[in-house]
Amino acid sequence: MEKRNQNEKTAMSGREPNRAIACTVSECAHHAKSCDFCALDRIRVGTHEPHPTETRCVDCESFACDPASCGRTDTTREI
Ligand code: SF4
Repeated sequence: MEKRNQNEKTAMSGREPNRAIACTVSECAHHAKSCDFCALDRIRVGTHEPHPTETRCVDCESFACDPASCGRTDTTREI
């Protein structure tokens, strides 16, 4: 329990990799940046297709554009 709380805290502060969530989308505000992992404690995965059949049909719905990559400021997104 103590370790989980520490992980949540470091993930919330930004950039501490969560090694349970591998990710190469460095344009995301939640990406660890120093390595190919997400920094969130958990993510939401979904689909934009009515009947997903391939990897490309599935999306990380926790993605938020990193302003440094896309210049947008509306980066908050509920997970
Ligand atoms: S929120 Fe999704 S897209 Fe963004 S770093 Fe985490 S796993 Fe990758």
